[in-house]
This record gives sequence, C-alpha cells and structure tokens, in this order.
Amino acid sequence: MSEHDHGDRGHHPEPLAPVEARVAAIETVLTAKGMFDPGTLDSIVENFEHNLGPLNGAKVVARAWVDDEYRDRLLTDATAAIAELGFGGPEGDHMVVVANTPDVHNLVVCTLCSCYPWPTLGLPPAWYKEPAYRSRAVREPRALLAEMGTDLSDDVEIRVWDSSAEVRYLVLPERPAGTDGLSQDELVGIVTRDAMIGVARL
Ligand code: FE
Repeated sequence: MSEHDHGDRGHHPEPLAPVEARVAAIETVLTAKGMFDPGTLDSIVENFEHNLGPLNGAKVVARAWVDDEYRDRLLTDATAAIAELGFGGPEGDHMVVVANTPDVHNLVVCTLCSCYPWPTLGLPPAWYKEPAYRSRAVREPRALLAEMGTDLSDDVEIRVWDSSAEVRYLVLPERPAGTDGLSQDELVGIVTRDAMIGVARL
C-alpha cells in the first residue's frame, strides 16, 4: 500500500508509523553525534514549502495565460502539459487542471486526508489538512471562501474537486485585468499558491 492510498492504514494515523519512529530515532542519534544539522532539513522543507512548489505551479499558470495552445493542452491533459515545463513525479502523476471563469470558481480539497499536487504546489499548508477545511469545503464552500477572504457573488458557481490518491487538481485562475503589459516572468510573480488551490482569487 502506498503512502497515499486512502485505506485503513492511510497516511495520517495519529501514532508514529514504524518508519517514522525509525527516522526520528536516526535523526536524533545523528544530531547528537553532530553528523546532521536539523537546520539543514528545516531549510530544505522551508524551500520546498515556500519557493519550489508554488513557483512551479505559477510557471504553469503564467504559460497558460500567454499561450492559448498550451492552455488547451493543459486543460486536456494536464499531466503531459505540466511535464513540458519539467514538473511531475510522485504526488503529481495524474494531474487535472480546472479553469476559473467569470461564472465558475473552482476549489480543491482532499476530504479524506491531504492529497495535494506536490510537483506544482509543494507541500500542503496546515489548514488544508484540517478537518474543518476538508468538511466545509464541501458542505458550505461559499461561506468558507468568504471567511478566507474570497467573497463570491451568488451567481458564481463553485465547483469543488476532491483530490485522491489517483488524481490531483490545480486551479487555473483567471488572468487579472490590467496585466496585459506584463511579461510571462512577471506574470509568474502574481500567481499565488492559494489561487491555485482556489481559496483566493487574483
Ligand atoms: Fe489525501
């Protein structure tokens, strides 16, 4: 059973799994012997969380904004289109990209645990794993989004996509008005992680 199967022995048990306990023990010993700097690991995780992951997704979005043919490929076969930019692999083997429009807003959740597109967004934020987010995203997405700062008018349809071990979703936000003069690289800089999860608009 892989780490992301939604089985009885899924990937969010409360007690440490044997492998986690073993890793923790090894880390403790190596740290005590001065052979391992926990700060290094923290910096790797930090980089993955704040730079590497969402930046990749932002590059995908910006490319789709400036290249209609790429956008079509992205919405048809996201995994292949994302691979064109060099991103893919575990936790992103089967990607689906859903596009926001003036009438439709897409929201991504994993109701069962925390499935998330690692190659394009990095590690999920803590709130993404919280039971409150996972349940309310389905039960009352409009109220949840409003609380998170995204007020949608009642005539905007909200589509909620439930991630799984098999399929991971990425939201293609609308390109903001007034960005016609920006280069593709500059556009990358305005795409946020939250917009690609669908809890924010740009
Ligand atoms: Fe999950």
